[in-house]
Amino acid sequence: MTGTVVKSFGKYYAIEYEGRRINCTLRGRLRKDERLEKYSEPVAVGDIVEFELDGEGSGAIELVRERRNTFTRRYKDSDLNDLIAANLDLMVVIQCFSKPRLNLRFVDRLLVRGEKEGIPVLLCVNKLDLAEDDDTGRLNDYYRGSGLDILMTSAVTGEGIDTLKKLLAEKLSILIGNSGVGKTSLLNGMYPDLDLRTTEVSESTGKGRHTTTNVEMFRLESDARIIDTPGLREFGLTDIEPHELGVYFMEFGRLSRKCDFSPCTHEHEPGCEIKRLVEKGKISEERYVSYLNILSTLKDYYDNRYR
Ligand code: GDP
Ligand code: ZN
Repeated sequence: MTGTVVKSFGKYYAIEYEGRRINCTLRGRLRKDERLEKYSEPVAVGDIVEFELDGEGSGAIELVRERRNTFTRRYKDSDLNDLIAANLDLMVVIQCFSKPRLNLRFVDRLLVRGEKEGIPVLLCVNKLDLAEDDDTGRLNDYYRGSGLDILMTSAVTGEGIDTLKKLLAEKLSILIGNSGVGKTSLLNGMYPDLDLRTTEVSESTGKGRHTTTNVEMFRLESDARIIDTPGLREFGLTDIEPHELGVYFMEFGRLSRKCDFSPCTHEHEPGCEIKRLVEKGKISEERYVSYLNILSTLKDYYDNRYR
């Protein structure tokens, strides 16, 4: 039988199968599957799995179907990827105007993650009602030429809420946002009858930052399936080598075809198109600095590792 993993909790996984939820364990041999070895856990929410029922209405997962993509985090001190979710249609990064402050460095790292995995990203910036005169302009400026989808919303005035709801319809999305940005308010705005459930969303998954988090998928109106990740504050990009970073840095990837060197890290190389475009003002200088910042983290990581 084939089902979708909708929840992971400790050693157990809940599988959705024909509208029912079946609690499953893992067959031992799954742990020996080479494709799954590099992950802390062999199975994640979003996985399509083959399973077998036992007599009591629970089951065992036999096989994990090929994944379209994975969302992982990785700590500096470990070579294992902490697998959070699989087969995502969309990554929604939620930030806000006013407080907590916009953290575009954090967003840029997530954008690299999304490009690397081939997961489309939507940047949702909430609390539009609190934006100051030049806030929205500065944000658009920062991402000029990147092609990033940015949606500005306000859970207070309702602006952008319908659009967000439409963008989430019929998709499996992972929501990423620090507490305080208004994630709960946005969910309540989009799905008013799920008042209680939204609290559940944060409570049931908000455990443990450094242990594997309990993750759950919620099925909402218009077949929006949502995975919330309240504990997600940091994650590394250490599976990306420094010279590859430009490839996954949205607009840099496309524009670097005109760099004299290939690969070009857009740092010290002469004849670098990215540096030219920064000078000409076609790429925001701040965004370029954010790139250099990630590049230097990756270089440090690889230097220490192979020394
Ligand atoms: P969460 O921690 O991300 O789930 O954020 P909450 O939904 O709990 O909201 C955090 C705070 O921001 C609360 O005081 C909300 O009333 C407030 N808030 C949420 N969305 C907005 C918004 O669009 N505009 C304004 N002004 N306040 C908001
Ligand atoms: Zn270059």
